[in-house]
Parts: sequence; structure tokens; C-alpha cells
Amino acid sequence: MKISAEQLELVKAQLKRLVQTGHFYGKRIEGIDIDAIQTAEDFEKLPFCSKEDLREAYPLGLMAVPEEEIVRIHSSSGTTGTPVIIPYTAKDVDDWATMFARCYETAGITNKDRIQITPGYGLWTAGIGFQAGCEKLGAMAIPMGPGNTEKQLQMMQDLQSTVICATSSYALLLSEQIEKRNLKDKIRLKKGVIGSERWGEKMRNRIQNALGIELYDIYGLTEIYGPGIGVNCSHNTGMHIWDDFLYLEIVNPQTGEPVPDGEVGEIVLTTLVKEGAPLIRFRTHDLSRIIPGECPCGRSYPRIDIIMGRTDDMFKVKGVNMFPSQVEEFIRDTKGAYSEYLVTIDHVNGKDVMTVSVELEDGADGEQVAEELRVRFKNKVNMTPEIETVPKGSLPRSEKKTKRVIDKRLD
Ligand code: ZN
Repeated sequence: MKISAEQLELVKAQLKRLVQTGHFYGKRIEGIDIDAIQTAEDFEKLPFCSKEDLREAYPLGLMAVPEEEIVRIHSSSGTTGTPVIIPYTAKDVDDWATMFARCYETAGITNKDRIQITPGYGLWTAGIGFQAGCEKLGAMAIPMGPGNTEKQLQMMQDLQSTVICATSSYALLLSEQIEKRNLKDKIRLKKGVIGSERWGEKMRNRIQNALGIELYDIYGLTEIYGPGIGVNCSHNTGMHIWDDFLYLEIVNPQTGEPVPDGEVGEIVLTTLVKEGAPLIRFRTHDLSRIIPGECPCGRSYPRIDIIMGRTDDMFKVKGVNMFPSQVEEFIRDTKGAYSEYLVTIDHVNGKDVMTVSVELEDGADGEQVAEELRVRFKNKVNMTPEIETVPKGSLPRSEKKTKRVIDKRLD
């Protein structure tokens, strides 16, 4: 997939503005003749930008318009240092809502739906994105925000919510509670719109079966508008990405070279019409692949696979590179193993020790599950971790993103 002539013209207009406003990226490309950028190959020579660049611009260095045009800021979490602040113009806010409404529509949601929104509101882009898209669509927003499961379940019954928006782990928690309390006949949920956390097929099936709903994966990140830049359609063949707002590339995370369509790599995004904080070739650290060919739904928007992990989630044990998505796959294929797991890696007596804690289905034989998992690891990645089986419900669930890998070697 190459950048189109139309997309390239939009990028060039943004590059000129970034140079004029003395933006860090404008400084980075000083001396480059922007009008001479004519082909996809020329575009691919442009430098990347990274989360580190964005942190260095803190607080408002990303602003690429006069301040009076900025109507709002959002910030990404600062768990790993200085946060990033993204300024938005009125048009950016509106474009984001347009994209998000398109996500809902693609999921078959209409203005007759009642959308219960559980992601958090505030600096974070989550809740407010779900809300703005819902209002743009004309549906009824039920702006719950996170937590308070009692109240969530009450509102879900009283207001007869038809759509639930949540992280995958919170959707799982809610579905477990609905099952446990026998509420399935009292709720009217039809669809779930799940934030772009990487999650396994097994967990998806759990939620789908427990609630009897269709699930849609929504993609996005604070640096690039927020959630809502892509979603899967009912054919469930990957997430369509709105390429009239963004240009999408997949590159080899080590070399930065583009990989062929279909191959896994790092998602790199370029905004095409963003005013407040345009980003050129932003490295997301998210791993996915382009799904080649056409979607049966007929939409021409390109598709990416569900997020397979983060380039920085890749872990190396005894010389073997692994992604959490591989661990997930082994667990999914193992009968008696539940969807929830935790990987702990430690360095003991000069040796790496990897322990996979996995929850068991009710009534499953722990020893049998452990043995089957050991064989799968050995056959597929040629290393055998320690397997610890625990009862269903004993590993931590989170309303935000659940941490799946704890690397104690880094302490
Ligand atoms: Zn489709």
C-alpha cells in the first residue's frame, strides 16, 4: 500500500506549515525541498517522529497554529516520564467526532442506540471520544466513566443500554458479573465497542458468549486524535482505518524499512488534515499487519489486523524473542485454560526463569493443562516455561489495560 497523490498533497501542505511555525518537525526537515516530494519513495525518506520528540515538546511545543485557534488539549499517560500534550483546534475536535461516528456506523450502530460509555473522561482521550462520536451519530450517550460496577449494571438494566463501550478487561469483568448474577435476561446489550487493547480470541469468545453480543475493536491513540481512527466491520476481517484523515504504514521496528503488505511490523501514522498538532510518520510502537485484498463489505478503507502487541512488549527469554500475543495463542489452543494469564520473568541463580500463570476453567485438570502448555511452548518457540495454574478469577483484572508481562530482571 503506497501513499496516494491526493494524500501526498495533504502531507506537503502540513510540512510547509510545520516549517513556517518553527515546529520541531519543521526544523528537522529544514533544507528539504518540499515541492520536490513527488513519490511514495520520496515520502518514505522523510524522518520519523517518536513519543520522545513529543515529550521534549512539553507542554505546548506541538502547537502548529496560533494559540487562539486551540480549543482543547488532551494528554497521554505519563507512566513512563513526562506526559505528552496534544492541542486540538475546533476542526480537529470535529474531525475526530466524524471519524468516531463513522466507527459506530461501521459497527451497525444507529441513532436509535443507547451507548453506555465506561472509559474514563478527562485529560485522557478515551471517554470524551466515545461521547463526541455518539453525539455526532445522534445516539443516546450514557456517560458512566469507569468503575462502580454496581451502578454500571443498574444503569444497564434501567436504561436498557444497547451498546457497551469498554476496555476488553472491563468488558470481561462486566460479563462475568452479569453471568454470576443471572442478569442476562434483564439486559438488552447488542454490541460491544472495545478499546484498542490487544486481546486474545479466547477472551473475545468469553465476552461474546456470556453476553450474546457482537464485538467491535476500535483503534486509536491520544497522539493521533484518540480512539476512533478505525474499527472492524461486521465481517470481522480486521479494522478499517480512515485513510482520508490518516496515512498508514507498517515498518520493520528494527530497521524502519516498510514491510510488505501482510507482514507484521510497527504501525506508523501520518495525519493528513490535523491542524493543532500534525504528526508526520509517528511511530506508534503498536504491532499489526496490513490485511491485503478487499473486504467483503465493499469499503475501500485499508484494514489492519487486531493489535498484536507493542514493540516494547517484546521480551527475550533464554535468547528467544516472544510477544504476549504468542503466549495468548498457546493458551487459546489449550483445552481447560481460561483466557486470563500473567507472565513473570526473573533472573535466578544466573538463569532466566519464565513463569506463565494461567487461570483454569471450572473443573479443568491443572496438571493436564500445564503439561499441554509446556509442550506447545517447546514445539513452537523451543523453550519451556514454568507453568502455574490458578483458579478462575484469581489473576488481577483492570479497568484500564491489564499488564500481562512482568519482567523482574528490569528492577
Ligand atoms: Zn469491511
